[in-house]
Amino acid sequence: MDFYPIAIEKLIEEFAKLPGIGYKTAQRLTLHVLNLPQDEVRDFAKALVEARGTIKYCSICGNFTDKDPCSICGNPNRDKSTVCVVEQPKDIMSMEKVREFNGVYHVLHGTISPMAGRGPEQIKLRELIRRLNGEIKEIIVATNPNIEGEATAMYISKIVKPLGVKVTRIAHGIPVGGDLDYADEVTLSKALEGRREI
Ligand SMILES: [Zn+2]
Repeated sequence: MDFYPIAIEKLIEEFAKLPGIGYKTAQRLTLHVLNLPQDEVRDFAKALVEARGTIKYCSICGNFTDKDPCSICGNPNRDKSTVCVVEQPKDIMSMEKVREFNGVYHVLHGTISPMAGRGPEQIKLRELIRRLNGEIKEIIVATNPNIEGEATAMYISKIVKPLGVKVTRIAHGIPVGGDLDYADEVTLSKALEGRREI
């Protein structure tokens, strides 16, 4: 495609690197940007650079934050004895929307997947174990109900239970193979309510 000026080609290439964006969409987004007022483009670029520059992971739970610890870990009203373990920071948003969970979180940043060759050392599991200092009484595993999420839940149970911490798994309502992200608030609330020990 050498009929575009290099600057346009470059922008299309950058858009195409984003997840779920193919060449055609990247092209459309690029043409859209080229038609925006200069200051809007500048604001957009600034937002990208600022987000990347100021957002880091919470040193306790692994959530995205602009201050450390994050607003959840740093909130004295949250129950520090119950930790909900999720795969990704976006899952915290799903859980928070339910407004029924008042504990704290731990983000694994992935799952164990023997098929994909991903072992426990490749997710933030060591960080979870390190948090078990006596204050934590229950771990609620809220990984997605698919093969990898289940394998991860079982592994956590195997490691954590001998340490005398109760391990539960969110249960009802979320369809097998489903994604926490797509579960509505009622479903997620029921899933939390109906958690069972593993
Ligand atoms: Zn945190």
